[in-house]
Amino acid sequence: MRILFGGSCFLCRGATAALICNACDADLPRLGAELCPRCALQSPRGQLCGRCLAQPPHYDATIAALAYAFPADALVQALKFRGELALSSLLGRLLSDRIAPATVDRVIAVPLTAARLRMRGYNQSVEIARHVLPAKLDLDSCVRTRDAPPQMGLPLEERRRNVRGAFECTRSLVGERVAVVDDVMTTGATLDEVAHTLKRAGAAYVVNWVVTRTA
Ligand SMILES: [Zn+2]
Ligand SMILES: [Zn+2]
Repeated sequence: MRILFGGSCFLCRGATAALICNACDADLPRLGAELCPRCALQSPRGQLCGRCLAQPPHYDATIAALAYAFPADALVQALKFRGELALSSLLGRLLSDRIAPATVDRVIAVPLTAARLRMRGYNQSVEIARHVLPAKLDLDSCVRTRDAPPQMGLPLEERRRNVRGAFECTRSLVGERVAVVDDVMTTGATLDEVAHTLKRAGAAYVVNWVVTRTA
């Protein structure tokens, strides 16, 4: 890391032996305790939110480390679009701080299609997951068979339609507790479709482990 970043903080360029300095780390927009346990949106006293009550998603729980706000969004984008792969260890560590690893049998990362993976060269969610619970990481059991058009700015219903049937399980997951790692959760449409796919393969419980959550 010192070779890559020359001993300076990725965010403020101050001197540090780590990827980001202690001051920048302390300033990260960590999420508090008052989150819906199912979708990780802000919710008074950490109760199940109205949306999850009215229309329960296929996933059972969501753990999110940071708000998708500056500078967490900059870190996620640098990993995803600028190939700053070293940031995956930092983002993985921030996520690891929040999770209970003993509660799952298997960890998957939201997969990319083979074509998208070839184009980008790596899957940022896989790179993060390598630093979360590598002993249980499974890169083969859930695959993405189809890309959706860019989801940015689309309403939830349209996002749902775009990802429907986009994933496939290649093995039975009967009775298993599965964690799904992603870099950012926005509407949750993609994670809902992944959870739906895992449940159809028999998974008993699906928890999202996401680094950042939009409000
Ligand atoms: Zn700094
Ligand atoms: Zn909720």
